[in-house]
Amino acid sequence: MPDFKINTTDEIDAAYNTLQATFRAGTTRPLAWRKHQLNQLVLMLRENIESIVQGFSVDLRKPPAEVLTGEIGPVVRRAIQSAAQLDAWASDESPQVREWQRTWSPTILKRPKGVVLVISPWNYPIFLSLQPVIGAISAGCPAVLKPSEIGPGVSSVLADLFPKYLDPSAYRIINGGVPETTHLLKLKWDHITYTGNGTVARIVARAAAEHLTPLTLELGGKSPVIIDANTTDLKIAAKRVLWGKTLNAGQICVAPDYALILRSAQDAFVEAIKEAAVELRLDGALASDSYSSIISDGHYMRLRSLMTKSLGNVVVGGSTDDAKRRITPTVYRDVKEGDSLLEGEIFGPLLPIVPVDDIRQAIEYINAHPHPLVLYAFTEDAELKQALRDETKSGGLHFNDVVQHMSIDTLPFSGVGESGYGSQALKYTYDEYTQLRSSVDIPLASSVDRDEPRLSARYPPYTPATTQVMAVRAGAIEAPAAAL
Ligand code: NAD
Repeated sequence: MPDFKINTTDEIDAAYNTLQATFRAGTTRPLAWRKHQLNQLVLMLRENIESIVQGFSVDLRKPPAEVLTGEIGPVVRRAIQSAAQLDAWASDESPQVREWQRTWSPTILKRPKGVVLVISPWNYPIFLSLQPVIGAISAGCPAVLKPSEIGPGVSSVLADLFPKYLDPSAYRIINGGVPETTHLLKLKWDHITYTGNGTVARIVARAAAEHLTPLTLELGGKSPVIIDANTTDLKIAAKRVLWGKTLNAGQICVAPDYALILRSAQDAFVEAIKEAAVELRLDGALASDSYSSIISDGHYMRLRSLMTKSLGNVVVGGSTDDAKRRITPTVYRDVKEGDSLLEGEIFGPLLPIVPVDDIRQAIEYINAHPHPLVLYAFTEDAELKQALRDETKSGGLHFNDVVQHMSIDTLPFSGVGESGYGSQALKYTYDEYTQLRSSVDIPLASSVDRDEPRLSARYPPYTPATTQVMAVRAGAIEAPAAAL
């Protein structure tokens, strides 16, 4: 395993200056060069699966199956698709214009914004770091990637691999913590993408505001899951929800955070949860290779404290292993407003069940809290589905399963309000780093198109006749009948 090496401020400044020079030289602009870098990114992952899995085992003891399907797979897929679609994305567009403006060659040029800073978190360190990098490469932007210091295993593997595969004059890893990120944020970037929590997002947004730098914020929050026991299959719902809490030990921004269910159906749902827990062998989770650990002592102690303080009743799980930082997926029933589990985002394998008296109360509860990254509902009730579409707000809306929307490459992934802004995946990421530059080229006095004579009405002094011509052209008044 490579060592986790923190970069100095001199190294940060040198990297920044190199990337700025590379952008000014136009190195990153040719589409063939961008496609080559995307192919290199694919090779970097496919040729180093073992060391990447090793990095994950240091940080999270993450099962290789989850590394392959949730980290390496989506990045490889999306890099390949981006390379294949790049010609179409990057081609100029001719917008529809009014008849008399056709000779002006109105064009939308796709231009790289410039040098990008990507700050990523520890929980999906390959996927969340490299998805923005794919977008930056595709858009023709150099990028500095600052992975999380909380996951030094994967961050050091990335620092080792980047210069072996990607052009180091355009793509650099900077490793470090708060001081290094603070230094990075003092520099003027052309776009910043930050993925993480809302508190640090505000620090990043304030730093970006100093330079008017555009920003993408991929944040989290408490994603609810409504269980409509009247129309759903409780066994399947329980199994799917519980799976969402076991994946990466619940350390996933789109994990179902808490469940809302009719009070009268809580007993039946709890029974279904208990059955699902047996099926998923949760009693062996502390020792199993199929479950991840909690990332750090700090996060482990945070979750332990939530467990100690909660007044909910444990229905499955509850056991912990301090040495391995493991927590068995744990479900609580009868959790009430004000409980420790309902304060902030849980970001761990704990699921509170919150009983409500009717489904309207569930909608009101969701609307009384910050807009979540995703809203889940297990229901076959068409009216309830429509009410959730129309009356609630969230980054995504997902019926009858959890997390699976992440596997659809062509859906935009984004938050709203407290869960962030800007979009990811394929062209959506490309668009984040692309400036739409408007261009016109107006003929001076073509005899055929007569642009100058046609424009003559705009020049002062204005007369009633020229004012009328301009007003008709602007759409302010209708053309007089004689002119038709
Ligand atoms: P983290 O602690 O790794 O922090 C993320 C990044 O912020 C790191 O690179 C870190 O160095 C940097 N950072 C931390 N403190 C900083 C400071 N004071 N100034 C500047 N930079 C600083 O990750 P985290 O925040 O614990 O990540 C978990 C959160 O991210 C959760 O809220 C989760 O929901 C959210 N998340 C969102 C998405 C998404 O795509 N919407 C994906 C994953 C995680």
